[in-house]
Amino acid sequence: MPITGGCLCGAIRYAISKPPLGSRTCWCRLCQYLASGSATVNLIVPADAVTITGPLKTFDRIADSGNHMTRGFCPDCGTHVTSAAAETGHLRVIRTGTLDDPNLMGPQATIWTDMAPHWASMNPDLPKHAKQPPPVA
Ligand SMILES: [Zn+2]
Ligand SMILES: [Zn+2]
Repeated sequence: MPITGGCLCGAIRYAISKPPLGSRTCWCRLCQYLASGSATVNLIVPADAVTITGPLKTFDRIADSGNHMTRGFCPDCGTHVTSAAAETGHLRVIRTGTLDDPNLMGPQATIWTDMAPHWASMNPDLPKHAKQPPPVA
């Protein structure tokens, strides 16, 4: 059974044919823009396992980590759905909030805690990384 999800309006849909490799909560400054002030929650999956349908629009930017990031979102409803770094082309990030079942996997680490605002709420049970840790795989 593939893992499925999509954007809020349904124009973008995806299927993931392999198990996720991990999940992280990210407090980098850019994620705060995407998540309306909070952190993003990101499922990391093998890039070759992802099939996307619909008019995914992308936005490229060099992240604080120095990685060349491509973020994918729906041009109709604005939901951010995917992310990928040129430096880790074997991985694809799926925004956890877009999963049909967000309970699939919770985050296992909190990253970019140095960039979080003073009021940020973080899970004390998870490892914290001040900046970008090594890739999950
Ligand atoms: Zn949409
Ligand atoms: Zn981030």
